[in-house]
Amino acid sequence: MDEIIPRRADAIIIGAGVVGTSIAHHLAARGLTDLVVLERNRIAQGASGDGAGGFRQQFSTAINVQMTQLSLPYFLDAPHRLGAEIELRQQGYLFLLTTEAQVAEFRTNLAMQRGLGAPVRWLEREEVAALVPGLRTDDLLGATYCSDDGWARPPLVATAFARRAEALGARIFEGCPVTGIATNGGAVTGVTTRHGAIDAPIVIDAAGPWAAEVAALAGLALPAEPVCRQVFRTAPFAGVAAGAPLAIDVASGLWFRPHEGGFWWGKSDDAEPPGLIKHLDPDWARHTADLARDRVPPFAGARVVGGWSGFYTMTPDAHGLIGGFPHLRGFYCATGFSGHGFQHSPATGLLLAEIILDGRATTLDIHPLRPTRFAEGEPIVERYVV
Ligand SMILES: Cc1cc2nc3c(=O)[nH]c(=O)nc-3n(C[C@H](O)[C@H](O)[C@H](O)COP(=O)(O)OP(=O)(O)OC[C@H]3O[C@@H](n4cnc5c(N)ncnc54)[C@H](O)[C@@H]3O)c2cc1C
Repeated sequence: MDEIIPRRADAIIIGAGVVGTSIAHHLAARGLTDLVVLERNRIAQGASGDGAGGFRQQFSTAINVQMTQLSLPYFLDAPHRLGAEIELRQQGYLFLLTTEAQVAEFRTNLAMQRGLGAPVRWLEREEVAALVPGLRTDDLLGATYCSDDGWARPPLVATAFARRAEALGARIFEGCPVTGIATNGGAVTGVTTRHGAIDAPIVIDAAGPWAAEVAALAGLALPAEPVCRQVFRTAPFAGVAAGAPLAIDVASGLWFRPHEGGFWWGKSDDAEPPGLIKHLDPDWARHTADLARDRVPPFAGARVVGGWSGFYTMTPDAHGLIGGFPHLRGFYCATGFSGHGFQHSPATGLLLAEIILDGRATTLDIHPLRPTRFAEGEPIVERYVV
């Protein structure tokens, strides 16, 4: 390892998840090719290995809608844009609404989303029943649906970004934890690793759930916390429409989608404390399975065969933190996506490369996502974290 790790580079990225590899690809594509990515584990085995891979244009803030829209072409045209198959399923997202308050809120969201060009539609109860066979619809007041939404496999996207970055000259070292960040006179000057020090004028923290720990090495406090999230799955069962969308029961917070003849389902547990311990809770599995049975009666015949957990990286307003820091030149972060980091990873790489190389993001103004917004009293709240 000592012989091949360089002593200096133009930029260092810490973390080779889907966000770090996207940044590497975009910086290299812009000509910054003396680039090193340091990953303490393996590519895409952090949150990117645990993600459900969903992407949607149905958010409550314009910036989140636009971040997905900017990312969408990478997913839809992955063979060309990424040089890889990514197990894309464009089967839509469906938000099920059962109260008048939800109807009012989602009609407002729908107008905003459509104003940005997202093909989101209002569905009446009968249309929902036709779209998702087996769904209990008696209490529905309507739904919003976007057929452009869908899902893919995050590790395939991360690996594709990594290979593209390497083809352009970037170097990615796995099994190489960053243990320190060097600064001098208000500027970052490099990192230390278990295998030696590397000097660089640009250091990017893309360490996902560990990003606050990494930022602390530079003396910065990032408002981003890891929170464990659980997903469960069933064996194939009769009554699942393989082409159904991912559905979210807004009242209960339950989400579910078809997967290989069965279901994946989950729900964010608001009582889960922040922390870096993964767990699968049988009581939570039972509680959410009850919700699923109530919403999809054929689910009662399904056999639960497993599940997994991983970390969302939550910020106080459930939006990503992308950008630099006025008091530490050359240090940038891209994290805190609050469960949306896969779908926003292509846009994040593109826009952070613009911030680093051009001084600001021009393809899309992401000033609202700057990491200093909380200190400046300008949070922007996303209402729908699934
Ligand atoms: C259950 C679950 C479901 C999800 N569903 C979705 C979804 O449907 N849609 C969506 O958009 N998002 C979803 N997400 C979120 C999404 O997976 C993440 O936002 C995204 O993968 C974050 O990518 P990342 O590259 O920032 O982090 P990671 O993939 O965690 O990468 C960070 C990397 O940094 C490395 N690292 C940490 N510290 C150091 C160090 N000191 N030195 C070197 N390397 C270090 C880690 O090993 C890790 O590989 C989900 C997440 C979970 C857990």
